[in-house]
Formats: sequence, structure tokens, C-alpha cells
Amino acid sequence: MIVAPLGSGSAGNAYYFESDGTGILVDAGFGSRETSRRLEQVGRKLADLQAVILTHEHYDHIRGAESIARKLSIPIYLTRGTLEASTIDPAQTRTVIFDINSTFPVGELNVHSCRTLHDAAEPACFVIEARDGTRVGIASDLGYVDDAVVRHLRGCDGLFFESNHDLDMLRMGTYPWSLKRRIMSRFGHLSNDDSMLAVQRMLDADLKTLCMIHLSQKNNHESIVRDMASGLLARHGVQLELGIAAQFEATGIFDVVRRRPARPPVPARYTQMALF
Ligand SMILES: [Zn+2]
Ligand SMILES: [Zn+2]
Repeated sequence: MIVAPLGSGSAGNAYYFESDGTGILVDAGFGSRETSRRLEQVGRKLADLQAVILTHEHYDHIRGAESIARKLSIPIYLTRGTLEASTIDPAQTRTVIFDINSTFPVGELNVHSCRTLHDAAEPACFVIEARDGTRVGIASDLGYVDDAVVRHLRGCDGLFFESNHDLDMLRMGTYPWSLKRRIMSRFGHLSNDDSMLAVQRMLDADLKTLCMIHLSQKNNHESIVRDMASGLLARHGVQLELGIAAQFEATGIFDVVRRRPARPPVPARYTQMALF
């Protein structure tokens, strides 16, 4: 499975996933022209998108969702809570409601959703699964990582996971106290320390790609996150591909391949099954 973070952080989030001819965007925090520009940076184009899937209604995740969906006549998948809390108009844009903690197909991909704790109406994280069984987890905008989220994301081949802020930088920084308190709450964002503790619980032999996402521009630095993640991997004797998602450009392409032998391929979703 191909995964390309097109941009990650409070100025906009969008992640391109592709497998077996299905291309989707998880979150659409950039307008259609900017999304198109960033897709071109990874050798793709807007027309490759067949669906947009939203984690929650915050503007940095949905800014371009409607314009992209309408331009391409593709659906937006979202929870009812996200739809109702957003400005997306289901009369104008095709929307598909998914239940939180459910599995639903999008083209040749299966999407497993799990609720997260964040100050949004009905926020979700996802495991995206390809036909050969490759599984990639993506979770950002988490105030707290509980057992349900760890269980959901464990055993993935690739993991794209929030590492939002350095606690000291946040405490000493210029944000107003009310905003600092919101970010640090159980419904805010994950500190680097809490993120590494959670990643540690999800490290296993299957994990091949780890990419840290949604870094704060003001209260974090790529080098801090990279050092902490490399240290964690070294302490556990784990070797894998480590990435840090950028905010202002596409980060590049991660080709997530299963370490375990591929499962026997599932028949294509729309083939007619023989009747006996
Ligand atoms: Zn966000
Ligand atoms: Zn958010």
C-alpha cells in the first residue's frame, strides 16, 4: 500500500492512500488546487481520488473536503457527529455516514474505524486494509490514548501517529493559558512523551513503517521527535522505516509492505461469485 502524507499539522492535514487501483484521501485540509499541487509532488493527480474519509470536523481536516468531493463527484465518508458539527451540506455533496467502531469498504480497501478522545463531536482513527491484508493505522488529534485505540492500531504494517508537542515548549511558549490547557487535556493533542509511550505499546514484529504526524509548528521540532522515536526504536531493538510528516509540502511516498507473507488474495469485491 502506498501512503503519502500531503501535509500534516494545524495548518492542514491530508493523507493519500492507494492500493489495488483505489486512491483515497484521509482528511482534506487543503483546498482542491493545493491538494492537486501536493499530489503532483508524489506523482499523483486529483482525479486519482475516489473518496475522502474524515477523522473529525476541525477545519484543518475538512477545509477542502467539499470542494474536492464536488469537483470529482466522489463521496465523503464521515460519522454522523462529524457531519452535523461541520458545514458540509449533504444536499450538495455526496456523503456516506459510517458508524464509529465499524468496518466499511471503500473501493478495494477496507476501513476499520475506532473512536478517539478529542474535542470534536465524534472523532475517529482508522486502520486501512488492502486486499492482501496490509494494514496501515492513522491516528491524530488524540487527547489521550486509551486501551481501545491501542488495541485497534496494534499489529499494523504501517503506523501514522500523532506526536504534537514538546511539553516544555508548550508550557514556556506564547499560547494563552486557556489554549495550553485545552491542548494538554484528555481531549486535546498528544505530547511527544505520551505519543512515544503509546507507540511503545504498539511496536511489534509486523511494524515496518512508522511516521509521526501533526507536529505543532510552534511547540515542537522535527529533530526532537526524530531523536525520541529513534531512541525508542533502538531501546527495543526495532529496525523500521521512520518518517516525520511535514506541514508545508508532501512528505514523500511510503510503500508499506507486509512483513508477514501475504494472505491469499481476497477475490475482487465486485466479481460475481459462482452460485452452487
Ligand atoms: Zn488537527
Ligand atoms: Zn482536531
